[in-house]
Amino acid sequence: MYCCMKCGMPFDGNGYLCPMCQNEEDRKYEAEFQLHVPEYIDEAGIPDGYRYWRGTNLSTVEKGPIVEHAAEWIWQHRKDNLLISGKTGMGKSTSACYAAMRLIAAHKVVRYVKLQRLMCEWSEARTSDSAFGEQEFFGRFRKLDYLILDEAVGKVKDTESRREMMIELLDEIASGELKMRLWILGNFRPGSIDALFGEENRDPSLRRIEENFVCAGITDTEVEVFHVWPQTEKTSN
Ligand SMILES: [Zn+2]
Repeated sequence: MYCCMKCGMPFDGNGYLCPMCQNEEDRKYEAEFQLHVPEYIDEAGIPDGYRYWRGTNLSTVEKGPIVEHAAEWIWQHRKDNLLISGKTGMGKSTSACYAAMRLIAAHKVVRYVKLQRLMCEWSEARTSDSAFGEQEFFGRFRKLDYLILDEAVGKVKDTESRREMMIELLDEIASGELKMRLWILGNFRPGSIDALFGEENRDPSLRRIEENFVCAGITDTEVEVFHVWPQTEKTSN
């Protein structure tokens, strides 16, 4: 028999607080956490433009997502690695960020970053004086529950260095070394995946994506799942 450190009541079980006081503490902690959620959203790198309805200070979390079918689909698939394709304006980024904000409110650690920005960090890591620059770079991902990699197609120059980074990222996701979920967003076209991972790595890359990701295309009316590796040939390879 223990006595509660707070109210002094005897109670069965472990810990310092009786169930009632523990409940109260948990509620207080959660209320305090929720007050800080806007800061955590900032720290996650979610751009303001994806947080509010245009020209207002109404957050999408309060008012609802800007593109409902896309946001709903992503939320339903939030436990998966995702590759999301769609033209500009279809709501890839706002929908992924909407899900991200809800995940942050549910205590998940998220980072949103554009591929171009991540490439800068990768270059810095590789040219730094530290012998462990590359490990440190990937080490940052170990603290995350989610990495949202936006603008993965176009804009960024196709370089050997980028392919190496993307392959390493895909490897660590596929092997389970990285526990986070990776959401890759872009306007994928034929050849886009080759550009990201390298033509010479096409088969293993596509297979890893097929096995570890849900791929979907967003249009203005629907979200359609697609496959990057032929399903029927899976066993013959
Ligand atoms: Zn108590």
